[in-house]
Amino acid sequence: MARAQSDAPLAAYAHELTLCAYCPSLCRDECPVAEADSRDTSTPWGLMSLADHVRRGAIELTDDVADAWARCVGCGACTAACGHDNDVTGVLLAARSVAVQRLGPPSGAAFEPPEVTERAGRWEAQPKFALVPGPEVLRNAPAAVDALFDLCDILDEPSLSLGPGVELDLGYAAWHSGDHAQFARQAARVHQHLNTASRIVVMSAEALHLLRNVYPEFGLRLDAEVMHTTEFLVPLLSGAVVQRVSGRVAYHDACHLSRHLGVYDEPRQLLERVLTGRLTELPKAGDRTRCCGGTGCAVNRQPATAATMASEVIALAVDVGAETLVSFSPECVVSLRAAAGDRIAVEHGVGLIRQAVQSTGSET
Ligand code: SF4
Ligand code: SF4
Repeated sequence: MARAQSDAPLAAYAHELTLCAYCPSLCRDECPVAEADSRDTSTPWGLMSLADHVRRGAIELTDDVADAWARCVGCGACTAACGHDNDVTGVLLAARSVAVQRLGPPSGAAFEPPEVTERAGRWEAQPKFALVPGPEVLRNAPAAVDALFDLCDILDEPSLSLGPGVELDLGYAAWHSGDHAQFARQAARVHQHLNTASRIVVMSAEALHLLRNVYPEFGLRLDAEVMHTTEFLVPLLSGAVVQRVSGRVAYHDACHLSRHLGVYDEPRQLLERVLTGRLTELPKAGDRTRCCGGTGCAVNRQPATAATMASEVIALAVDVGAETLVSFSPECVVSLRAAAGDRIAVEHGVGLIRQAVQSTGSET
């Protein structure tokens, strides 16, 4: 049988690929997809070895190979655990991009614009201070948007508004799948809409990762200050009157928010501000957080795996005795709620803060 051609674009990653291919799969237990699938082929070692075989021309790049690479949700847990800090996420993203160029884009659900209602009168054609919830938020967790606007009303922050940009697909699915020509088109459109703002508050961890890290890589740097909801709320809450919420509450770090963006402290500061007791930490927290399957297109591409991943995070929270699990990532809230059943309550952090905040002024 004829050998496949060596794959030139992957040659740039020979060092990273070789590191994994000759590694005894030391990060295996950290990969949530491999754990959920219980398959060596889903491990970082398995996916990188496959890419190394393609790079060397030992196997052909087929749809099955592309499907295997698409199982990685890009959570970055392998890199955090790796003694070499090996950028598996970046290499597998490049591999998926090569696959799209050779085999065509993967089929996926067509983007449906969310229905945007005029929430609490917070709508402007060109907001200077723009709220970007992320399309999934408006579709699946709109209560968090309402809670955030309620907080703005209570805390005398009148200028945050939705605008036409919220109806656009920010391009996460196209970018993550490796369809970077499609992503560039979508991102350019979003950039045109958002670049009139001077401040942008983003709720979705995936969307924030795109706007802060990925858009600039595609030459689409925003002039605005781009901040996560938690970064926006910390100073706003400093003068709030708070009726603290009781109960044992644990916090789940979304992998994009924590490992990819370094937003660890603000969510914890906010929760410590509104809870009667100490915040409970999960055994896997901070840069060792466990992905709940809410990201990386897993819910659509590999729903059974995503559900198992969410269930494992719920089990971690139940094991530490938490009554409520909080996330500030709407994608995570949706996945975790679906997996929780009656084992534990799952709250969006903005909703919990809204429960606690009474008015501006000094705490009583
Ligand atoms: S990421 Fe690091 S620990 Fe994991 S397989 Fe590759 S070299 Fe080994
Ligand atoms: S980025 Fe996450 S899902 Fe992908 S191989 Fe690494 S640990 Fe597994």
